[in-house]
Amino acid sequence: MSVSQISNQPKKMKQISEFFGENIFGPQAMAEYVSKDAIKAVNEARNTGKSMDRKMADQIADGMKNWAISKGATHYTHWFQPLRGATAEKHDAFFDPTGIDTGVESFSGKALVQQEPDASSFPNGGIRNTFEARGYSAWDPSSPAFIMEKASGKTLCIPTIFVAYTGEALDYKAPLIKSTNFLTKTTTEVCQLFDAKVKNAKVSLGIEQEYFLVDAELYNKRPDLVFAGRTLVGNMPAKGQQLEDHYFGSIPDRVYNYMTDFEQEALKLGIPLKTRHNEVAPGQFECAPMFEEADVAIDHNSLLMDVMQNVANRHNLKVIWHEKPFKGVNGSGKHNNWSIVTDTGVNLFSPGQSPQDNLQFLTFFINTIKAVYDNADLLRASIATAANDHRLGANEAPPAIMSVFIGSTLSEVLNQFEADKVSKKPSRVSEKTINVYRIPEILLDNTDRNRTSPFAFTGNKFEFRAVGSSDHCANAIIVLNTIMANQLANFKKEVDALMKKKISKTEAIEQILRGYIKSSKKIIFEGNGYGDEWVKEAAKRGLNNIKTTPYALDAYNTKKTHDLFINNGIFTTKELEARTEIKFENYLLKVQIEGRILGELVKNYVIPSAVNYQKQLIDSIEGLARIGHAKSTTKALNEIAKEISENVNAIWENNAKMTEERRKANNLSHADKRAKAYCDKVKPYFESIRESADKLEELIDNDAWKLPKYRDLLFFK
Ligand code: ADP
Ligand code: MG
Repeated sequence: MSVSQISNQPKKMKQISEFFGENIFGPQAMAEYVSKDAIKAVNEARNTGKSMDRKMADQIADGMKNWAISKGATHYTHWFQPLRGATAEKHDAFFDPTGIDTGVESFSGKALVQQEPDASSFPNGGIRNTFEARGYSAWDPSSPAFIMEKASGKTLCIPTIFVAYTGEALDYKAPLIKSTNFLTKTTTEVCQLFDAKVKNAKVSLGIEQEYFLVDAELYNKRPDLVFAGRTLVGNMPAKGQQLEDHYFGSIPDRVYNYMTDFEQEALKLGIPLKTRHNEVAPGQFECAPMFEEADVAIDHNSLLMDVMQNVANRHNLKVIWHEKPFKGVNGSGKHNNWSIVTDTGVNLFSPGQSPQDNLQFLTFFINTIKAVYDNADLLRASIATAANDHRLGANEAPPAIMSVFIGSTLSEVLNQFEADKVSKKPSRVSEKTINVYRIPEILLDNTDRNRTSPFAFTGNKFEFRAVGSSDHCANAIIVLNTIMANQLANFKKEVDALMKKKISKTEAIEQILRGYIKSSKKIIFEGNGYGDEWVKEAAKRGLNNIKTTPYALDAYNTKKTHDLFINNGIFTTKELEARTEIKFENYLLKVQIEGRILGELVKNYVIPSAVNYQKQLIDSIEGLARIGHAKSTTKALNEIAKEISENVNAIWENNAKMTEERRKANNLSHADKRAKAYCDKVKPYFESIRESADKLEELIDNDAWKLPKYRDLLFFK
């Protein structure tokens, strides 16, 4: 047997349970490396937020270091999630020299607990002045430390929060936890109307991640992919996704090898990955972990994105997270499956067996619909980014109009409920005649799936599908948690008020829910969310259709939003203002960078390719004339040469105009004004420049074209 034959044999894989979580400093590792007292202190810090004394921190740091060294780590880093999106790290060696040629590995409690990364280059929305550019990262014991393995070595990563010296949060973690706590508190209060035994609740989140894979060598030849994350020019190949033969098709070998590899690394880090498959577009894939508590699920999603990109390097691949990397090809999202579960084990979005359970289900279900209706603009703002603008409403992604899909069974239930046709008598479940309190338990299986809705009920959870693939989920989940929590608090107040008037509890709940259905049912939409009819119908209903980010972000600046976040302690005024400013800034920076890259791309690649080819044409035309051919024989070549000139001129002129608009936009005083100018005045040129560039790609010799084409980028051989 030859060597190549041997290496083609399938590897014997270990069972996942043998290595799941082996790279985290979780309960098992802790039991081995630190004392029982230290474990107690970590658990206490995790559960109560109580800070830990230095001596204890020293002890834990020492155990953590010994564990990490036993795994081969040489360095450590605080790992955090700044507001620009990706994760951040700054590595230090454990090594401490003790003499000219001696040293030891050390790691103190001080280094574990707090660090001061040079923070001035992270987005801060003006919170930190440059003369006081100090922020610090502080150990977050609620998330286990882990080892990141790369080809070049291993690093102990310590999850931390990132805070300004003046105390404001500069990352996602603190407000996310606050929003989760707010939701579990109000959920518990409402649950107690039904069951006094409920003392707490958890928010569950399962995040499906879509992504594109591209060969690294081809990727590196596309400055637009490298610097903007998406292609700014490029034509759809003749065979695109028309046949949709990619979806759930067999996974190409090269991709399959990559998937099993990154899954293994992710599983070692305790990320419970469950599913993998091809997506609709060629080159597009999806993976999804088992759902977890929301805060953990979101940490894991950020970590997963890191792992996927790292492992891709080993396979000479690049992961593309952008929401719309290829024009005319489906974009990517990050579906957030969200539910709330009580400490008695009840999923509040699962219809139960008894009438009482189902009144509770309807309470949470209808309150969610009302929360989305009342806060649709804010929810839209929570998913607004320059990249997601290309996807929302692009015929294969949910529109920018917020709506809720609930399926025909529940629509019928709500109709009957609203009409007060509530019968509490237990009746046999019949699929035809729905008795409001006897919602068929088979709902989970018979819920119709609507893949065109931005916010769909899927049997026992809501799926927020409009979140962008590159986004940090905390943006959406902080808003979703907070609007729901606030709604539940209001609901509870209304119920209490009616009960004071001697109205029975059940009657009070029903009456209020009936009112909610009436006032918010406009947000429910069961039809095709991708169609033009919906845009018209939504306008008739008075639902907003905010197509671009800078206008969507205005929802963060309203009094209503400030009251919601500040009165409920999720953000301080300063934090909220800073975050909003960062969002406007992120938008304009992204568009600004794209504008510059596009300018370079057309000048350094597109126009030179076109002119080289045009020169060949001219040589041919002249040559043919020289050997006496009639003018008519060069008609086609003449036309192509002319068309090249026309498109080159159009690119040149539009690029000059775009540059001028950028200059004007940069001179505006506020980030929101600049963002709007970039959106309205600069971005439209991207389309016109691209149109000419794509025309040139079509016209000229394949070999003369300097950029890898879509057909090379998208199809794995
Ligand atoms: P889909 O049809 O959307 O692919 P799946 O059942 O595959 O649905 O679930 C997708 C994601 O939803 C997974 O991450 C899964 O763990 C998560 N999920 C399932 N049930 C719940 C729940 N009750 N709460 C939150 N997430 C859930
Ligand atoms: Mg899904």
